[in-house]
Amino acid sequence: MYMKTYIKTLGKVFLDKYFAAALVFVLSLYVFEEWAFDSPQGQFLKMLLTFDLKKDLAANLIVSFGSFVFCFLFVLFALRSPNNMRWIYGFAFGLSTLIQYGFWKAVKRFILEQDLQIAGSTPLNIWMGAGALYFNWIFILPLAAFVFLLFSIKGEETRPQSLRSIGVLLALIVSLGGFAFMADLSVLVGPSLPAYYGTIAQFGVNALVPSSRQAVEPITNTRAKNNILLIVDESIRGDHLGINGYSRDTTPYLSQIVSKEGIALNFGVAAAGGTCSYISNSLLITGVRPGSDDFKLVHTHPTVFQYARAMGYKTYYLDVQASSLWNGLKGDDLRYVDFWYKVNDFEDGYNSDFRAAEQISDILSESTGNFIMVNKRGVHFLYEGSYAPDAEIWGPTPDDYTKQPDLVVNAYDNGIRYNLDNFFRHLLPDLSILDTTYIIYTSDHGETLFEDGTDWLHCNNTIQEARVPLLILGKHLPTVETGFQASHSNILPTLLDLMDVPNNIRRHPYAPSLFSDENNQPVDVYFFDGALRLVDFQAP
Ligand SMILES: [Zn+2]
Repeated sequence: MYMKTYIKTLGKVFLDKYFAAALVFVLSLYVFEEWAFDSPQGQFLKMLLTFDLKKDLAANLIVSFGSFVFCFLFVLFALRSPNNMRWIYGFAFGLSTLIQYGFWKAVKRFILEQDLQIAGSTPLNIWMGAGALYFNWIFILPLAAFVFLLFSIKGEETRPQSLRSIGVLLALIVSLGGFAFMADLSVLVGPSLPAYYGTIAQFGVNALVPSSRQAVEPITNTRAKNNILLIVDESIRGDHLGINGYSRDTTPYLSQIVSKEGIALNFGVAAAGGTCSYISNSLLITGVRPGSDDFKLVHTHPTVFQYARAMGYKTYYLDVQASSLWNGLKGDDLRYVDFWYKVNDFEDGYNSDFRAAEQISDILSESTGNFIMVNKRGVHFLYEGSYAPDAEIWGPTPDDYTKQPDLVVNAYDNGIRYNLDNFFRHLLPDLSILDTTYIIYTSDHGETLFEDGTDWLHCNNTIQEARVPLLILGKHLPTVETGFQASHSNILPTLLDLMDVPNNIRRHPYAPSLFSDENNQPVDVYFFDGALRLVDFQAP
């Protein structure tokens, strides 16, 4: 009986022409954009499964659902609206597709909050010049379909009712943007329409909420005398490097450099701050210490870019992995980044790290006073994607990673040998850069390599996932003992030492720098697992 009434009501709702038309239109929009853009929603699902987004899973799903609801209500209210209100919907829809489709054409993604921040400081003539690059005629198709729908279905709302509907949409999109801001999401999942207006709302909320990052007092305007380069590799396990005594020669070129007298301090296998990219990168840029500090402090501690700027460095951030901020930096933090290069600037592929290395090499040989941080592409799963097919040295490589766990290491080591060793060949074709430059090299985390029955890569809690390399190169390094158990926590204070940051402007009691005598005392070293639980790091 109840079932019957239920089905009847359900039938009525779906037979309602506004409801049915809105649903069909929105679903078609999803399908159309999957076809037109390399399937953004499909990529999102894939990203959830492959990359380190577990922390954001719930938040992304909420935004995804909210986006769908917004899209649906937008079309539903548009169809119900009276004639004299429809231009508002048509304009809003057309604007979002024009901008989003243009962005996708130029940079292979929709607009982000950071684009709006940068847009404000970009002169108009540059925007005009970029017009041709961004214009994507395909936006006409969904717009034409939407306008056609508006012409073929007559509305039923009065003007005040329609204004109320627009109010509902505004409230919904501001909530969506506000939520994305609170959840610290850089990408708003969903089709072009909600992603566009949600991002604007996110930008607005961000502008109203004051930054919670502590300030660093500027010390000098004089350009610094040295260069500092922080290289954060991706998924490179410290005990798989030839320079750390690994049985395979994965680092022939780097070994030559390290063996030269007085230009290298190799701290061997160090402890990562976390087993997930987002976690360890956030710790690296803020100096927050696992085991002593709460992880939440990564949102308030000053970043390394603030210190660098305060000491007279030009600051560069090169990201060979993504075109949105994902590693703990937020839109606000870009105020202290003079140059932000993204994955598209390096033509993504197994040689993209080398293009970044060459660009860095150019910057460093032309001037001093540069602080550069690079997130390498590294050797991410599937490892065969990290090296040229003819660069295979160790084989066979697995056809199926879970069924042939013993072979995984072959593909992985090929990746290290190709990616990491050649990166240093491109960065340091000779050692002249080291006259003026200090280089700190590490990785964000290690990797399980399917050992001991593990079937995950990282972001979990095994020691293998926390084993990272830690190496400093430079021609004027102090003589220090390198035999202690170093960790990611030592890196920020070391960078501050290299920048000559006076003690009175260091905002926190950081871990000892790698140059400090305090490292003679044994300390317990911890890392955060993927769920932010502390794990004791046992040196191999
Ligand atoms: Zn990673």
